[in-house]
Amino acid sequence: MNPLADLHVHSTFSDGRGTIEENIAAAEALGLGTLGCVDHVRVDTDWVPAYVEAVQRARDGTAVELRCGIEAKLLDTTGALDLPGGIDGIDAIYAADHQVPLADGPTHPREVRERIAGGDLDPAVVIDAILTSTARALDRPQRVVIAHFLSILPKIGLTEADVPPEGLERLAAEAARTGQEIEISERWRCPSAATLRPFLRQGVPIALSTDSHKSETIGRYDYCLEVRRELQAG
Ligand SMILES: [Zn+2]
Ligand SMILES: [Zn+2]
Repeated sequence: MNPLADLHVHSTFSDGRGTIEENIAAAEALGLGTLGCVDHVRVDTDWVPAYVEAVQRARDGTAVELRCGIEAKLLDTTGALDLPGGIDGIDAIYAADHQVPLADGPTHPREVRERIAGGDLDPAVVIDAILTSTARALDRPQRVVIAHFLSILPKIGLTEADVPPEGLERLAAEAARTGQEIEISERWRCPSAATLRPFLRQGVPIALSTDSHKSETIGRYDYCLEVRRELQAG
């Protein structure tokens, strides 16, 4: 839980406003040691090789350690991610709950919310689908970071308190077994210390990140430090 690192920052390769160079300059100005370059991909994204090359080139000009990451949404309970082919040179995949990864595919949170309200979907089944898809997304040769874990819950009318502790324990055990990571997201203000405790106990690395889409917010923490304090207090 290193506050001198920001492991989730977008650039102009996807929907960030700052270039990779501008993001690095912001990280240098704050004295960060590590910057996680992360951009959104989908199955039809064709710029990954150019992106890998750009991050590689940027490494020569800075003392900040750069991670070359991409962010992809969880698709369904098989753990499939919305990833393009040919991702050589990528050293972290951020698995994100941008839609609800149900058994029959990614579903818009509004639809899930309506189906829960209408009694057509059991919230426990939805939460289990999120936990299962996340757990199954972890078993890959690349490093996987669980991105803004459970940020989808408020959009479907649920909270982290609705997630059963044994489900979190299982996911944390799988993250430990596969050697993967989880982040605390400044932008999404999640997950909570209570959600992260099983991960901490199992020795899963916890990264601080802002999910910045502009250079000015890189490495600036408030929520993350609060959660870190809570976790360190035991
Ligand atoms: Zn995201
Ligand atoms: Zn992001």
